[in-house]
Amino acid sequence: MFCPECFAEYKPGFSECSDCKVSLIDRSPTPEEIADFQARMAGPIVEYREMVEITWTYNPMDIAILKSILDAEDIHYHLHGEQFSYARPWVQPTRLMVSADQADEVRELIKDLNLSIVAHVYNPEEEEEEGKT
Ligand SMILES: [Zn+2]
Repeated sequence: MFCPECFAEYKPGFSECSDCKVSLIDRSPTPEEIADFQARMAGPIVEYREMVEITWTYNPMDIAILKSILDAEDIHYHLHGEQFSYARPWVQPTRLMVSADQADEVRELIKDLNLSIVAHVYNPEEEEEEGKT
């Protein structure tokens, strides 16, 4: 005996699931039914959310600060290019991506944050001109 909703097992003699109020099925669930139930409970493996870019930085210290703030606020975020930046800092910025529905909240959170000046003044063209003089 099992409940087709929550897959609880019942001893013979019961006819209705006490939790789901549905009629029990008088046999054992098939492996297919169990797999289907488990998939339903687990939900989609990858949760899709639209991600938007909030800011970017060349400085691993900034990333550490951002992480601590976002973790504390329970923000779902992704640091694009993070591994690359740790291996070769200053070459490619790490971009802070957050889900679109939390973007405004995150912008507010980091608004007053004094992120690395290097991140925002770095300009490869300017550097080139300095090299010429
Ligand atoms: Zn049930």
